[in-house]
Amino acid sequence: MTAVATIFGVSKRYSSVTAVEGIDLELRRGECLALVGHNGAGKTTLVKLILGLITPTIGQVRVLGHDPSTAQGAELRSGLGFLPENVAFHAAMTGRELLRFYAKLKRAPGSQVDELLYRVGLSDAAGRRVGTYSKGMRQRLGLAQALIGAPELLLLDEPTSGLDPASRTHFYGMIHDLRREGVTVLISTHSLAEIETYADRIAVMHRGRLIALGTLDELRAAASLPVRIRFTVTPCTTGQLLARLGDGIEVFERTDRVLDIGCSPQAKVGVFRQLGDTWRSIEDITLDTPGLPAIYSRLVDKEEKP
Ligand code: ATP
Repeated sequence: MTAVATIFGVSKRYSSVTAVEGIDLELRRGECLALVGHNGAGKTTLVKLILGLITPTIGQVRVLGHDPSTAQGAELRSGLGFLPENVAFHAAMTGRELLRFYAKLKRAPGSQVDELLYRVGLSDAAGRRVGTYSKGMRQRLGLAQALIGAPELLLLDEPTSGLDPASRTHFYGMIHDLRREGVTVLISTHSLAEIETYADRIAVMHRGRLIALGTLDELRAAASLPVRIRFTVTPCTTGQLLARLGDGIEVFERTDRVLDIGCSPQAKVGVFRQLGDTWRSIEDITLDTPGLPAIYSRLVDKEEKP
């Protein structure tokens, strides 16, 4: 897969503050990469570096083969779409007028505007003043603004904050379609449970450093968190079950009718194979594979208390 953007050995310092340090990261064409991290972890700094709004103190940034901070980078930026966290649009202008204005700034054809408004589901509200738009509608207008000029790379900062569940689903549906057209998407977000479904890879930032990068499964392995298996059994049979399971499991809870264990993701199938005829005493099973919120917390904890 080809790289749309490459960040190589990048650090950014502001006098005594190191905003990001020693970052190596590649954005692959057509992927959705999630950028996660606490407040102040360095996510916005990384986005600004990709946009060419700031230059690295050390290291190199290349976007579509160019240095985004140079004059050539200004041309390049028309190939990038950016949705900032807090989009503030002029309330007295209509959605259509605003997009036409941004299209002019980006030197993109004004004929795109109605198509973009349709794409984000705002055709009916195109002639209404933005001051009358709901938060979700403003966010959709923000996405339409970011899509002006058919960018190859979209940078979205907290794109779903303040959206209701239906608007979030609609938003990710649009992102899905864009990716099928080959657009690369970087989403900076604090919504961990939500993004794990949509991101191909996740980059975890902590105190300015990239502490983990990979698919959800890769991050799960790096966090070495157990898969939890909770058996509900007929009375007084948890002992028999436990005797069957052997080594490599951790017992989190054991009562008369409940056995809650943890094991590595690799050992999970083996646990079920070992059950033998104790199956008959099992009334229910729940399986809990750790999601991004738990994985993230563990990865950050590992950094804090190695
Ligand atoms: P948030 O989730 O709160 O948006 P973030 O992960 O985007 O945070 P950044 O905005 O990149 O974090 O900030 C990283 C660090 O760099 C912070 O300590 C911040 O205070 C510092 N920083 C960012 N920009 C500047 C600047 N222009 N001058 C001084 N320090 C800065």
